[in-house]
Amino acid sequence: MNTFIFNYIVLVSVSGVLSTLLAILVFFNKHSFSGRKTFIWINITSAFYIFGYAFCLSSTSLEEIEWMTRIQYVGLPFIGPLYIVLVMQFTGLDRFFTKKLLTGLFIIPVLTVLVVWTNQLHHLFYKSLTVKVVEGYLLTEFSIGFFYIIHGGYTFGSLLAALVLLIWHGRRIHRSYKLHVIAMFTALLIPMTSSFLYLMGTTPHNMDPVPVIMCITSTIYLIAIYKSKMFKVAPIAKDLVFSHMRDPVIVLNAHDQIVDFNLAAEGIFPNLNKTFIGKDIHTSWKEEFNDFPLPEWSEDRTEVIEQEIQWVYKGRAIYGLFRVFPILKKDHLIDGRALVFTDLTKEMILREELKERASKDGLTNVLNRSAFMDKCSQFADEHKSLAIILFDIDHFKKINDTYGHLVGDQALIHIVGVCKSYMKEEYIFARYGGEEFVIAMPESSIEEASEYAKVLCEEIATSRMKLGEQPLHITASFGVAVHQNVKLGDLLNEADQALYQAKRNGRNNVQVFGV
Ligand code: GH3
Ligand code: MG
Ligand code: MG
Repeated sequence: MNTFIFNYIVLVSVSGVLSTLLAILVFFNKHSFSGRKTFIWINITSAFYIFGYAFCLSSTSLEEIEWMTRIQYVGLPFIGPLYIVLVMQFTGLDRFFTKKLLTGLFIIPVLTVLVVWTNQLHHLFYKSLTVKVVEGYLLTEFSIGFFYIIHGGYTFGSLLAALVLLIWHGRRIHRSYKLHVIAMFTALLIPMTSSFLYLMGTTPHNMDPVPVIMCITSTIYLIAIYKSKMFKVAPIAKDLVFSHMRDPVIVLNAHDQIVDFNLAAEGIFPNLNKTFIGKDIHTSWKEEFNDFPLPEWSEDRTEVIEQEIQWVYKGRAIYGLFRVFPILKKDHLIDGRALVFTDLTKEMILREELKERASKDGLTNVLNRSAFMDKCSQFADEHKSLAIILFDIDHFKKINDTYGHLVGDQALIHIVGVCKSYMKEEYIFARYGGEEFVIAMPESSIEEASEYAKVLCEEIATSRMKLGEQPLHITASFGVAVHQNVKLGDLLNEADQALYQAKRNGRNNVQVFGV
């Protein structure tokens, strides 16, 4: 009985066996590849579909046909979305898998199974299902219901989406791997075209050709996967490097829409998530990261733009270098941009700390002489008048000689403590050297400065540094100089002369230069 339908049943059965074998082969093969589990599932679901169809063709009653149809639909609705998952895995897009996305992909297939299995209750899938006898076989004739359209549309749509993803990926990869992508593309296109012809009613006896073709698609995919080991490894490695790079990277297309970003970018912009993909960077950044100083670039700029930025986000200061690299096509037109941000926050904090440390005197923690000179020259430039108070501890050598160097150090710290409690924010207080200190008072009159010096002189003299049972008595001599539009060096010189005068006057007193 070598009829067309008989031969077709044999072909479909062979296809079913092949699908099952492919699933088993990959299951037991030790060479893993990205999407391996998905591939196995595609072949298991295909086997249900194919064998269901083969048994359907060889059924001898309508009831048997109905049961075999149910078996077919345990597999068929899942094949389309599974191809989307597989292609996403090949193209490295599985980074964007979420539970929601994966569940969402399989909602309609699960509903389809339920609807098919309960069709006799509502006739939403098949409005009617009858049989006709051809070549001694029972072939089905049916009119489709509302859910059949949903299922058909969804399966078609899924395969189309998988095709689009392959095209998109094919454009990005190296020439030598393009053949594999083309093979996979064709392998998907064949069942799509044939199911289209089937739905149009142009196949012989209105029989479904897809079950035979499904195993061809699977085989081509398997060969493409194994033949292109490099093709799998290179993008995956590239994606791994990209997503785990220390520097945040955001990739834009030619219209400045966000195409991709890495984990580091999510780290620095905590609200950055997948919903940003496809959005214009300028508007979305304004909405979400309001005052972020995004560098500006014009559409046709092809050189790399570099900009140092400082940004405070949610109370955290961020410093870094923002670079915008153009991604050029072969014809040198802009294809997109890569925004690379080098986070220098830690280095900047360290730099600030070092700067701060370099400007301070290690013992007393007030400014040192060079930091004082820097600050004062700024003030001398800006302010019309500057008062300088220079003071030197009296007979300090004696303290050292009598009590030792450590006590001498403590005495210096004690003097600084006394002065600090009388210090105003706008004054600049520094250790000028040894046991000599200096205070700069911007915009202060000679009276203010000498009064202030007298207060300090008295406070130092009356304060007592604790030294065991006996408190230590310390005094200092003060020289004051005030001038308008005079060089800082000259002013310090005058204050020094006044200080020398105070020493000669018997110490523990204040002298004003020129008075
Ligand atoms: P005068 O009243 O004339 O200023 O006498 P003096 O002894 O204070 O002045 P002199 O310049 O002869 O001595 C200053 C001493 O200060 C000498 C130096 O060893 C000491 N000295 C300088 N820096 C430090 C320091 O950081 N710690 C200690 N313990 N001593 C210091
Ligand atoms: Mg001294
Ligand atoms: Mg001295």
